[in-house]
Amino acid sequence: MSAGTLGVGGDVGRDVDEVVRLLRGARSVVLACHVGPDGDALGSMLALGLALRSLGADVVASWGGEPFEVPATYAFLPGLDLLVPPSEVPAAPEVLVALDTGSVDRLGSLADRVAASGCCVVVDHHASNTSFGDLNLVDDTAAATAVLVADLVERLGVPLTHDLAVDLYTGLVTDTGSFKYLATTPSVHELAARLLATGIRHDLITRAIYDDAPFGYVQLLGRACAGASLEQEAVGGLGLVSCVVPADELKLSGLGLADVEGVIDVLRVSQEAEIAVVLKGDPVEGGFKVSARSKGAVDVGAVCTALGGGGHRFAAGFTSWDDGPSTLARLRAALDAAPHLPV
Ligand code: AMP
Ligand code: MN
Ligand code: MN
Repeated sequence: MSAGTLGVGGDVGRDVDEVVRLLRGARSVVLACHVGPDGDALGSMLALGLALRSLGADVVASWGGEPFEVPATYAFLPGLDLLVPPSEVPAAPEVLVALDTGSVDRLGSLADRVAASGCCVVVDHHASNTSFGDLNLVDDTAAATAVLVADLVERLGVPLTHDLAVDLYTGLVTDTGSFKYLATTPSVHELAARLLATGIRHDLITRAIYDDAPFGYVQLLGRACAGASLEQEAVGGLGLVSCVVPADELKLSGLGLADVEGVIDVLRVSQEAEIAVVLKGDPVEGGFKVSARSKGAVDVGAVCTALGGGGHRFAAGFTSWDDGPSTLARLRAALDAAPHLPV
């Protein structure tokens, strides 16, 4: 491993020089991130896209979900002009880079581009990552995919511009829970300092992400929390707090799934519960997008992976096609059977 200034570890070292060679020489590159993209998925993807475009490559970026709409929260991200809907992504990309994506199925309708591409590079930090690329920059100790992209950008010799910094800061701040989570190492703060030094308005970025939503969201949040249930005997006595955000309520409020990402962060405050769970009805595809969070005593990543999803040890999710009560019962049973980690 040739030492990057950020000193990333994991599996990144093995393939990184080859990835840099490949990306420097590529004429055209397709970037893809996971369906239902969050701040890290979008920020990482657009940052790498801008960097590769500055090197002269033809770049398009996308994700495999319909309708193809940038979540309003992230409308400020530089590089949105790189985005094309999945139907316009070349069928056989010369180079495909999948970002923040733990497994092929998380690419949705773009999953078939992996096998069809000349070379697939995976840049990710999920513990559940299946290393599905020809080259894999996977480091599950990285706080965000944005950390890995920042390192890659530096290795590519691309200067850290203001626009790149906005994208990378967005990935960093969202996946560290505003620099609160355990993965927030000194090098994460060093990266944040380098990003701030480009002159970005971190106050405006975090306001757009966390402190700016329609009134309908505040009301919906209130209803979801008022209807939450606390089961102190669940998870082997560690406690479970859960709530449901029904799809029809989202529709009535004119909100989408991306608008209710923050509900789990309010619910998990409940001190009586080790585990917090939010079932979000998908107004477009049906079913539930389930978010699970642990305070450190249970590996919810492993639990959600076993239920067909994935994620990190303490933040994970899965999709369920069962009704709400059955979904919760299945998850409750899996959580009851999960080993308790030493904390
Ligand atoms: P969320 O609860 O949506 O904020 O997601 C928490 C973490 O779990 C993120 O790293 C997601 O990428 C991951 N995750 C959520 N849903 C799924 C899923 N259906 N399959 C795999 N990973 C997921
Ligand atoms: Mn993500
Ligand atoms: Mn991420």
